[in-house]
Amino acid sequence: MVNAFDGSRTADLPPATRDLIARRDAALGPAYRLFYEEPAEFARASGVYLYDPAGAAYLDAYNNVPSVGHSHPHVTEAVARQLATLNTHTRYLTDGVVSYAERLLATHPLMAPAHAMFTCTGSEANDLALRIARHYTGGTGVIVTANAYHGVTAALAELSPSLGPNVPLGLQVAAVPAPAAGVNFPAAVAWAIADLERHGVRLAAFLADSLFSSDGILPDPAGFLAPVAETVRAAGGLYIADEVQAGFGRTGTHLWGYQRHGIWPDIVTMGKPMGNGLPIAGIVARREVIEDFGRKSRYFNTFGGNPVCIAAAAAVLDVLQAERLPANAAATGGYLLDAITRLAADSPVLAGVRGAGLYLGVDVADPVTGAPSGELAAAIVNGMRERRVLISATGPRGSVLKIRPPLPFGREHADQLLTVLAEVLDGLGAVLDGPRAVPQAGKSSHTSSVDTERSFDPEGFLNSGAARPNDQTAQ
Ligand code: PMP
Repeated sequence: MVNAFDGSRTADLPPATRDLIARRDAALGPAYRLFYEEPAEFARASGVYLYDPAGAAYLDAYNNVPSVGHSHPHVTEAVARQLATLNTHTRYLTDGVVSYAERLLATHPLMAPAHAMFTCTGSEANDLALRIARHYTGGTGVIVTANAYHGVTAALAELSPSLGPNVPLGLQVAAVPAPAAGVNFPAAVAWAIADLERHGVRLAAFLADSLFSSDGILPDPAGFLAPVAETVRAAGGLYIADEVQAGFGRTGTHLWGYQRHGIWPDIVTMGKPMGNGLPIAGIVARREVIEDFGRKSRYFNTFGGNPVCIAAAAAVLDVLQAERLPANAAATGGYLLDAITRLAADSPVLAGVRGAGLYLGVDVADPVTGAPSGELAAAIVNGMRERRVLISATGPRGSVLKIRPPLPFGREHADQLLTVLAEVLDGLGAVLDGPRAVPQAGKSSHTSSVDTERSFDPEGFLNSGAARPNDQTAQ
């Protein structure tokens, strides 16, 4: 398990922390995990900082749910006002859910005509997308990547290889290698389709996180998903873009991760940052793929799309636009990417850096063997936590530093992160004291997928989406 408290340092923890952990274990049982060798406890948060019970500030370079900033006053006020006014469900007429759906649909112009449906979690959104895809195609097969994570339901645990060998994949599921350097990803997908067919399984969908977060954060080169979408559709399957991680402006240049690839999906699933912490998630699906399903299957999700959650989601769109947060993600993300690239050039353990907007992955490698090192990544993550900067690790070996802050993360916050990262790397030097064995040529290219040169239209982004690509994939 990546970045998890394993109890080995319990004796070193302050008595109050030990006590809370013991009570937590007793009350919540063994399935829950805590981050960090020394778990962090927080009492409040604001903007890009979390505060522990003693009032010490921690820089948040990890959390994407409070995407427009922790406890953002506009979201707080919208939620409080709506909660004090009316909170029902989608079986009564209310304007809020309709207006929000209209705004959301306008951000996916290339999927039009399309419909929006609301759930409470990203898992529910993927689950619904899967039901629609299987209904529409008549197939059952699903292709995912080798270390994908798509959710907690029984149907999605079967599609989430990152849950590990104790959680088996479904028999209708093909896992393809992640689109890392050296992998011919379109060919892998084509092979998986043929293999499913050979086993008598017809393809329903290709389901992918548009940033391949749990596979190690793989954004480059923008556009590499276009031939995949074409192959999937040619085989009669649907392209489902899981935007739970990439969506709502995180990649900086686009509101949605799939737009970086010049494609448009059949179904998009969204969650995490959608309500800045309120449980709202959902899908946008092309009308054609949802029509028959909708006629034959009643859909009601008790809390999904209720007025309070919708108020939060609408407020998030307001803030993204008013504070030009995608543009900030592009600017700060590009700055961080460049600066970490420079740090990596002088570091024997940072073997590669990549990112899109405010989602960065940094490969950590053993300086002697050059092999990906989850242990060193954990040492960096925990070293930064000790210095009150929160990041985490990802990838199949936990060897990729995961930097994914709330979107108001500015240059001053990036500088704070960089100072602490450099300190922690210096501290590792003493521990390692081995020869520098990672050849520069072996490092992955430090290319940025962040096009900070491109002019960004903050006023128009909620209406425009991606420009229609030249190399259009199938409708
Ligand atoms: N898809 C992706 C790519 C995710 O990262 C997650 C959550 N980590 C989910 C789906 C599931 O979302 P939720 O936890 O809201 O059910």
